[in-house]
Amino acid sequence: MTSRINLTFLGTGDSVPTDRRNHPGILLDFDGEHILFDCGEGTQRQFRKAHINPSSVTRIFISHWHGDHILGLPGLLQTLSLTGHQKTLKIYGPKNSKLYLYRMLESFAFVDKFLIELVEVTKPGIVVDEKDFRIEAEMMEHGTPCLAYKFIKKGHRRIDKNKLSKYKIKEGKHLANLKEGKDITYDGKKYKAKDLIYEDEDVSVSIVMDTKFNNKIIPFVKESDVLIIECTFGNDLVEKAIDHKHMTSKQVGEISKKAKVKKTYLTHISSRYETNLNQILDEVKKVFKNVELAKELGSIDV
Ligand SMILES: [Zn+2]
Ligand SMILES: [Zn+2]
Repeated sequence: MTSRINLTFLGTGDSVPTDRRNHPGILLDFDGEHILFDCGEGTQRQFRKAHINPSSVTRIFISHWHGDHILGLPGLLQTLSLTGHQKTLKIYGPKNSKLYLYRMLESFAFVDKFLIELVEVTKPGIVVDEKDFRIEAEMMEHGTPCLAYKFIKKGHRRIDKNKLSKYKIKEGKHLANLKEGKDITYDGKKYKAKDLIYEDEDVSVSIVMDTKFNNKIIPFVKESDVLIIECTFGNDLVEKAIDHKHMTSKQVGEISKKAKVKKTYLTHISSRYETNLNQILDEVKKVFKNVELAKELGSIDV
C-alpha cells in the first residue's frame, strides 16, 4: 500500500482577506508529516474549519515575509506552545528569515522559542531529504527574497504481491534480493526480478507563490503532478502585474503548458475577481486546459 499525498487549501486569497478567502496557506499531508506552506493571518482558524488539529504541523515552509504569508505564525506558535507541543518545529524560509522570526518572537511574551529550528534557504536545490520524500526550493523574483517549493514523493522499487501469490511464492527473507532488483531462485525455480517487481514513479507537487514571471519557474515545476501557483492578475492588468511583481493568468497558462504539468490549481486570488472568477480561469484555459481554481478549504488527493 503506497502512501498518498493529500493537500488542503487553507487560504486561497491574496493580501486582503474577504468573506470567502483567507490569506495563503496550504497543508500537505504525507505519511505522518503535516507540512504547512505559508501561514497567513487566521491560518490556525482555517485548520479548525478544515477539521485538522493545527498542533499536528511538523514543518512550516515560508515563501517570503510579506504579511499575507506569515502573519498567522505568531498565533500558531502560541497555540503550539499552549498545547504543549513536544517536538521541535522546523521552519524553513528565504534569506533574512532568522532576523524576521527573531524580531517577531521578541514582540510577544508567550512563545516558547526552544521548540523552533529555523533553516534559512539561501540557494536553490534540496532543502529536505528523507527516505520517502524530498523538498526542493528555487529562488523567485518578488522584490523581497522569495522561494518556490517542490515536494517530491520518491518512487520506490516494490514487490508485486499479486504476482507472488500467482506464482505461490511466500513472503520472507528470500525477497530481499528482489528489492535490490536481483533475480531469485525459490523452491527450485528461477524467477526474474522484472517479472515480480514494479517501480513507483516520483510524484511531485510544486508551489509557486508571489513572483513575477521568470525563467526559473518552468524548469523548476517541469512535469509536476500538481502545480499550485499564484494567479493574482488577469490579462486586463498586465502593467499592474509587472509593477507589483506578480503573474497574470496568461503567464500561468504558459508556464503550465510549457512545463507539461498534469494539473494546475490557481491561488492567491485577488478580491477584484471574486464576482467574475471565470475571467482568470478562462484566460488560463485558453492556454492550458487542465486547470481549476483552488477551492477555499478544499482538499485533494494527489
Ligand atoms: Zn502575497
Ligand atoms: Zn508578496
